[in-house]
Amino acid sequence: MQYKVRFVYPDRAYFNLKKELDEAYFDVMSRGELIDREHLQRFEDNLAKFVGTKYAVGLNSGYDALHISLRAAGVGRGDEVIVPAHTFVATCSAVVNVGATPILVDVGKDFNIDVNKIESAITKRTKAIIPVHLNGYMSDMVRIMQIAKNHNLIVIEDACQSLGATMFDDKSLTRKKAGAWGLTGCWSFYPFKILGAYGDGGAITTDDPEIALFAKRMRFNGEDRKTGEYHGHGFTCLLDNLQAAFLNIKLKYLPKWIEKRREIAEKYRNAFLDIKDLALPHYDDPRRDHVYQNYVVRSKQGDEFSDYLKKNGVEVLVQFRKPYYKHEALNLEDRGFPETEALSREVCSLPMNPELTDEEVDYVINVVRSFYGK
Ligand SMILES: *Cc1c(COP(=O)(O)O)cnc(C)c1O
Repeated sequence: MQYKVRFVYPDRAYFNLKKELDEAYFDVMSRGELIDREHLQRFEDNLAKFVGTKYAVGLNSGYDALHISLRAAGVGRGDEVIVPAHTFVATCSAVVNVGATPILVDVGKDFNIDVNKIESAITKRTKAIIPVHLNGYMSDMVRIMQIAKNHNLIVIEDACQSLGATMFDDKSLTRKKAGAWGLTGCWSFYPFKILGAYGDGGAITTDDPEIALFAKRMRFNGEDRKTGEYHGHGFTCLLDNLQAAFLNIKLKYLPKWIEKRREIAEKYRNAFLDIKDLALPHYDDPRRDHVYQNYVVRSKQGDEFSDYLKKNGVEVLVQFRKPYYKHEALNLEDRGFPETEALSREVCSLPMNPELTDEEVDYVINVVRSFYGK
């Protein structure tokens, strides 16, 4: 189907930065700088600066960031890790793959873990919690850090969808970025994330030098590249130097792109305010801001709504109609998560990217309004 408005425009994004990206490609290729070279180092420095942590370590994916973080934290067999019932499956799979048991907790109206339901999920075996900052909006990290402190839990932030999002921290009296609160922040540079590479990519950010060192070794099969010593059985999960070169260029533009996303979000908000059957992703917490990685509305009409948009030329995503814990092969316990169940029937992500034209945003608005007879 030929959509009038596509969900993403990687081609437009490329042409907007063609000169710089082509130069970076030429630089990397002509000098043969492929593995663990200066572009990677530079990107890590810039990412750490952007997030506000001491270190950033480039990895192959967001999944690897979660996996390495759990290993660095010593999470393994016999441990329980709290994860949200509504997230991308990788959050949970990383826990299972280190041998620990994921304990699912329902989410709230903002799609993030319901902080009021965390404490009843804590047992003697609970070792860590992975809050996910979904869609570009942070979990309530002030509450989560407090709960973690009270129960002596490690916090690993799945910030894969929220690069640039902030929350006001009443301890430091500053707005702190997602990924700067927990032991690590985990990042994905999958092409359609808010900062996307041209293939898979990821990173962790951390203030802990031991964790950064562990990750640097583990991404090279446990090897310390300076001494040649193996410090454990590791993995092959390094962020490619070429991807780092591209990401370094794109990171400069991220603040501008976030601004553009917020403008589009405001347009959507103003255009849909009068539609009672549509819940919009605008929340009344002045401590937190939204970077709109995704603009996810909840329509009471579910598939009828999303199918209508697609039929009328608007490409939308419905993540996720089937919650991950309901997939039989994953062997997870469905303890009943009413909010996740309800939102799974209703979610619909509207086109949201900085390459959208005003006409395209208006087109989306008109199709949504016409569905509701407006
Ligand atoms: C994208 C994503 C991941 C995994 O990232 P990959 O780079 O695809 O491995 C994990 N968690 C969340 C919330 C994500 O959105």
